[in-house]
Amino acid sequence: MWYPTGVLWLQQRFIGEAACRLEQFRKIGKDTYRFRCFLCGDSAKSKTKARGFLYPYKDQYRLKCHNCNVSMGFKAFLKALDPSLMDDYRRAYWQETRGGRTSKPSALPPKPIYQPPPAPTSAVISVDSDHFVNLLTLPPDHPAVRYAERRHIPRNWWQNFGFTTQFGSLIGDLGWDAPKSLQNAPRDALVILATDTTGRILAAQARLLAVSGGLRYLTAVAPDAQPVFGIRADVLKEENQDQIFIVEGPIDSVCLQFGMAAMNSGLDSAAQKVSQAYGVNTDRWIRCTDFEPRNTQIMNRLRQSIDAGYSVVIPDMSRLRGCKDVNEFVCLTGTEPSEMSRLLRTMVYRGLRARMKHLELLRRD
Ligand SMILES: [Zn+2]
Repeated sequence: MWYPTGVLWLQQRFIGEAACRLEQFRKIGKDTYRFRCFLCGDSAKSKTKARGFLYPYKDQYRLKCHNCNVSMGFKAFLKALDPSLMDDYRRAYWQETRGGRTSKPSALPPKPIYQPPPAPTSAVISVDSDHFVNLLTLPPDHPAVRYAERRHIPRNWWQNFGFTTQFGSLIGDLGWDAPKSLQNAPRDALVILATDTTGRILAAQARLLAVSGGLRYLTAVAPDAQPVFGIRADVLKEENQDQIFIVEGPIDSVCLQFGMAAMNSGLDSAAQKVSQAYGVNTDRWIRCTDFEPRNTQIMNRLRQSIDAGYSVVIPDMSRLRGCKDVNEFVCLTGTEPSEMSRLLRTMVYRGLRARMKHLELLRRD
């Protein structure tokens, strides 16, 4: 991992912490951030105008607003936004620079603990259909490729993705019964293939590239198959004791190291079926629903998993910057899968603690 010189990297970490409190926050370019100025409130007429900037100047970040013309150093910015964040920053700065006596940080930032994820599977996926083109063989300006890049789908997963204009025909070519809803209108879609450790296709999901009328995803499942995305021999083997996140959507799962997706089944049943099929210790699973505290259905499902005694992620919405799922957070922040898993591991609870955190989350929102 690359770290900028000076304390910029440390300040960037704190900008990340501050981001959830800054409206319209986004990163522009390599190291500049833009948002609505919280000091003057930015434009009263336009809610989308964002004229506050944090940009590196020498070895520090500075705040500049092109509306109220404020210009201040990084510590003044933190203090104005949230004095407690300023205290945290001071503490972290002290640790990193051994009291600030040296102008350069004498302690290097911690190295990431986890290695980059290995290739998803050694099994080659072959699709015998004229209605499917693998993402790896498409030109860079193809809409499906552009979509995959926009959603930060890591390259090592691309072999499980492709493009179709006729999802219903693709399902027919796979020899499965296509539901009526799939048979009609040709539509451009990104295809997501769930495979087992041998490369057999278990399920196919189409993410329509042009969304109309709220329909986004179509899913078809092979007869007698468990539609779980992300099954990998290297993750499931007995010697590997890393915890596995089971999430709802495949695009969320590829943003995690050791992630699998339940597709259109429940998290609990998906984890159980994979455990049975591959002899995986059931304690290895962490259930991670979408981060939507206001969604009663999701919150009830989370509660059911807790009551059944499973480890769950109780989302810390401020650290997740209000994002509704893993992929949204990754698109906003560019977080790598290993880093993302590490962040979520700090929000894992079970039993009584999980129940308390679940209640806290319901009350806060
Ligand atoms: Zn301002």
